[in-house]
Amino acid sequence: MRAAQKACKNCSFISGDDKCPLCGNPTTKDWQGYVVIIDHTRSEIAQRMGINVNGRFALKVR
Ligand SMILES: [Zn+2]
Repeated sequence: MRAAQKACKNCSFISGDDKCPLCGNPTTKDWQGYVVIIDHTRSEIAQRMGINVNGRFALKVR
């Protein structure tokens, strides 16, 4: 399952698409670790990473 997931090179959003559904930038399979943002308005991580949507975000994208 994880192999099919790709992370955006720009915003780190994880999806199964070749283009990020959030910002339209290309995605890559070369990423490590992720955080799940369930409520971005109350997530400290989301605020630190500048995330303003819910979803999964890669911690490291190459
Ligand atoms: Zn993106």
